[in-house]
Amino acid sequence: MSAEFNPVTATDTVTVPDTGLDEDDTPRRYYDLDETGFREVPKRWRKFYRHWQGPGDELAPNEVICPVCKVVIRSRRELRPGDRVYCMPCMSRLVVVRHPDGHLEAEVVY
Ligand SMILES: [Zn+2]
Repeated sequence: MSAEFNPVTATDTVTVPDTGLDEDDTPRRYYDLDETGFREVPKRWRKFYRHWQGPGDELAPNEVICPVCKVVIRSRRELRPGDRVYCMPCMSRLVVVRHPDGHLEAEVVY
């Protein structure tokens, strides 16, 4: 039998439009979250948090540190300034802000 026929060649680069456009017009990336052993919250929420490993621990674009308890909060999507996140371990409501050096940080919303 011949293996020449390849039906996917013409259609394998379909791009799906993303409606999550905002400040820089770049579609947000989405992330699959895995549980990392964070036990301070109920099981179903554990994948949204992880322990900060200290200086040298790189934050992903979907992660931000809680300024109150230093836990890393993880989002299903890439974080942008203005996003609101909730730190369940210390019950702080936070808003994501961009610092002059470009990295994202969370500030407490009072
Ligand atoms: Zn916190």
